[in-house]
Amino acid sequence: MGTHAESVSLFCDAMLASLARWLRAAGYDTGLASVSARDRAVLDACLAQSRILVTRDRHLAAHAPDGIRVVLLAVDGLDAQAAELTVALGIDWTCAPFTRCLLDNTSLHDATPGERTRVAPRARNLPGPFRACPACGRVYWPGSHVRRMQARLEHWNARGGNGAGG
Ligand SMILES: [Zn+2]
Repeated sequence: MGTHAESVSLFCDAMLASLARWLRAAGYDTGLASVSARDRAVLDACLAQSRILVTRDRHLAAHAPDGIRVVLLAVDGLDAQAAELTVALGIDWTCAPFTRCLLDNTSLHDATPGERTRVAPRARNLPGPFRACPACGRVYWPGSHVRRMQARLEHWNARGGNGAGG
């Protein structure tokens, strides 16, 4: 059974770094343009990797060639942008939470015993899951930070596509 996150790949412009982290937290394969990336490179990456371009940059959106789907966000602020994206793409913010590294988008694996030694001592008795990033080595566990993020993701889902917060 495929989830929505498995069928959608995204690419955020450099202004949307925070939104990109939250999309990764929800489980979406989300590329992020570097601050220095030229428009051409951003568009080429979207085309080559079949990614939907999510941008706040009207100029960039206007230059996207046919073949790239573009979501041009009209609002600022993380909650408002999340709501706008939910309407545009039907984002399910809880489809595969904390299965990707927030920093580099790599799929996480179950932490090995060696990786689990990097979990903070006070968190080692949590029920898990404990996951690790094979690219950067960061370990994720359901501590208070992750639980707060999870609550916000659930809130965005519950809010649904009603466009609240304008
Ligand atoms: Zn990583």
